[in-house]
Amino acid sequence: MQFISTRGGKAVQLEQAIMAGTAPDGGLYVPVELPQFASGSLPVDAPIHEFAACQLKPFFAGSSLESELDDICEEAFNFPAPLRGIQNSPDALSVLELFHGPTAAFKDFGARFLAATMSRIIQSRPDAASRPPATIVVATSGDTGGAVAAAFHRQPGTRVVVLFPEGRVSPRQQHQLTCWGDNIISLAVKGEFDDCQRVAKQLFADAGTSERLNLCSANSINVGRLLPQSVYYAKTSTDLYAERGEGGRYIVPTGNLGNAFACAWAKSMGLPIEELVLATNANTTIPEYLDSGIWKPRNSIATLASAMDVGDPSNMERLRYLWGDADELRQRVRAFSVNDAQIRAQIVSEFERQGIAWCPHTATGFHVYRHELDDSDRAGKHWIIAATAHAAKFDEIVEPLIGESIAVPEELARLLEWPAQFETIEAKAEQVIARL
Ligand SMILES: *Cc1c(COP(=O)(O)O)cnc(C)c1O
Repeated sequence: MQFISTRGGKAVQLEQAIMAGTAPDGGLYVPVELPQFASGSLPVDAPIHEFAACQLKPFFAGSSLESELDDICEEAFNFPAPLRGIQNSPDALSVLELFHGPTAAFKDFGARFLAATMSRIIQSRPDAASRPPATIVVATSGDTGGAVAAAFHRQPGTRVVVLFPEGRVSPRQQHQLTCWGDNIISLAVKGEFDDCQRVAKQLFADAGTSERLNLCSANSINVGRLLPQSVYYAKTSTDLYAERGEGGRYIVPTGNLGNAFACAWAKSMGLPIEELVLATNANTTIPEYLDSGIWKPRNSIATLASAMDVGDPSNMERLRYLWGDADELRQRVRAFSVNDAQIRAQIVSEFERQGIAWCPHTATGFHVYRHELDDSDRAGKHWIIAATAHAAKFDEIVEPLIGESIAVPEELARLLEWPAQFETIEAKAEQVIARL
């Protein structure tokens, strides 16, 4: 399978698409054609890593990684993505729990898959031994950096530079960004997420620096992060279809549109995905676009669901490439915006109803299900809300609302014991270079 930019140009191999991140023309890589999976062609009730290897096989055909796909999937998908049924709902409702990875957010799927593929590509380079370690630069507003650091920690031939905005990530997120040591360099940048991203871009923009430091990008538009995210939608819809003759209807908390786009991809591969609904926070670029047809990116605003604070969602370029502009998109996907007051109220009411604490991002999905869908949307239908992070990651928001402390998942608890270390820098590329 070859990959091309959403803006056209020459096709490249999977390895190149993964190592480059963004295409040279500024577009995003997509497969030249999507494989089609007829009903019954993927295994039912298989372990997730086995399912992943079957589904992703066509994307790896002809690449140097083809023979290693089973191992890559075993390494990347080493934790489950269970569907949990929600009681006390008149209609069928489940939650797709995507937070059982090492940093308790769905970004572990993409980061672990990226690490498993990138490290193999890097080590198979003929001049691998004589080059400096591949230096993966990641600008993060919270969850991405931790997932990437965890995935690349002690991967031979690599090091990671994590750039996060000083004072703007939750205390537990910050710990996950700074507790690694070894080949992980954590830098708090004086400024906002946008400043971190600008510094990362400056590093890549200088060809000399980029070559000398052997820079690689792990940002969220990398095709190596999107492919594994399509797997849990493909798998859960396949299993549901086998059980009930109808696939899944998904509500996906959305920021940069990577997770939801992967669901759209799975649908376009022929998987039984009946509906896709996006839940955004108060950053309304996507719902407004579907309403008005006008794409108006803007600066992000800070909300309780901070990992979704994106005013210019990059993956919209892929979604429009796949499904067309607003007039066509509107037929296939709906989007609703959820404000902070609604997030708070939903965390409280779901806790009262179910006794379960959900994170602020997942709460946007519950709000959409309970308050934006109408009775005919829900009646007799099985909806699935993607739970993107564990509530314990956002304890400082959730605990005061529910009046209880949240049990910390084992793996997260282990990380929180590790000592943290980081340096604080000005938002300047030279200050990063000086530390490499
Ligand atoms: C990143 C993130 C999101 C948003 O996902 P996108 O792919 O950017 O749309 C939602 N919830 C959590 C917890 C996240 O970390």
